[in-house]
Amino acid sequence: MTILVIAEHDNTALKNPTLHTVTAAEKLGGEVHLLVAGKSCDAAAEAAAKISGISKVLKADDAALEHQLAENIAPLVADLAQKGGYTHILAPAGTFGKNLLPRVAALLDVQMISDITEIVNATTFVRPVYAGNALATVESGQSLNILTVRPTAFDAALAEGGNAAIEDVAGAQESGLSAFVKRELTESERPELGDARIVVSGGRGLGSKEEFERLIPPLADKLGAAIGASRAAVDAGWVPNDYQVGQTGKQVAPEIYIAIGISGAIQHLAGMKDSKIIIAVNKDAEAPIFKIADIGLVGDLQEIMPELMKALDGLLGTNGMQKTA
Ligand SMILES: Cc1cc2nc3c(=O)[nH]c(=O)nc-3n(C[C@H](O)[C@H](O)[C@H](O)COP(=O)(O)OP(=O)(O)OC[C@H]3O[C@@H](n4cnc5c(N)ncnc54)[C@H](O)[C@@H]3O)c2cc1C
Repeated sequence: MTILVIAEHDNTALKNPTLHTVTAAEKLGGEVHLLVAGKSCDAAAEAAAKISGISKVLKADDAALEHQLAENIAPLVADLAQKGGYTHILAPAGTFGKNLLPRVAALLDVQMISDITEIVNATTFVRPVYAGNALATVESGQSLNILTVRPTAFDAALAEGGNAAIEDVAGAQESGLSAFVKRELTESERPELGDARIVVSGGRGLGSKEEFERLIPPLADKLGAAIGASRAAVDAGWVPNDYQVGQTGKQVAPEIYIAIGISGAIQHLAGMKDSKIIIAVNKDAEAPIFKIADIGLVGDLQEIMPELMKALDGLLGTNGMQKTA
């Protein structure tokens, strides 16, 4: 059994979800290879070779892969799957993997299995359905299984300790199906939402963009936390799209998740319910968020937030905590 994990990276460094996906791959019990597809991606390939548990790194370094367009990577992965005799192909269930692997599955005429949270054995997987309200155990009869993996459901593999060989892979081509136009990134000094140990998220209860900006960033900065948001806050244009936590946003599992003025709709819970400690501030004692909260503060956030900041000033000083990721 040989497993291919598709690395998520920026040509220089690997993204954290890759390490979690490697752990999932190891649970399958075979030899694990990692594909680093990009342009001038030596540094990312070298980092990949050091991951504990990887036996081979495949490096596809080609101008056609510079912006990692799924339309260009998919035929390469499909080709590798056939030539390499892989039994499983895995990628993190983030925007990158969710864009790429269905295309690979279609090219190979394989039924893909999305967003797995548990590996029962090499052909049996658990995946959430109905926004995480039920878990389906699915058994595959296919000789090749194409899986996206929910990173928060698996621990990260050790980034150091491995010494895998790096093998060059040729054959990448421009598909001509899409072209890179531009990349808009939210520049921030704060930790990345997906990697942060503490996340402070705001919802519609904040009332306006101005109130979101007045109340959420100071708390996040005091705690060295990342900022997240509910879809209502994103749809209202208070924060960029990549702040969204939930079923159709990012899935996070920080040590502490603080939900301010968020009701706790199932689609939001789907993105954060695996957090270790959940703290919620909401004026409605019946809000669903309190069903999963470890600490619930019932009251008007306009009153609670200044109190909270004052208490944290007393505990941490006015400079707050160091960055937590
Ligand atoms: C297919 C689909 C996918 C979706 N994906 C996502 C997703 O990925 N992420 C996501 O978040 N949502 C998602 N949604 C939307 C989701 O159903 C909810 O509409 C959304 O999460 C609500 O956001 P909210 O909690 O900020 O707003 P609301 O549900 O309106 O809650 C606001 C809360 O603030 C409280 N509040 C108001 N004023 C105050 C105050 N002064 N002090 C304290 N508390 C106050 C209220 O009591 C209320 O509980 C999706 C929906 C669909 C249909």
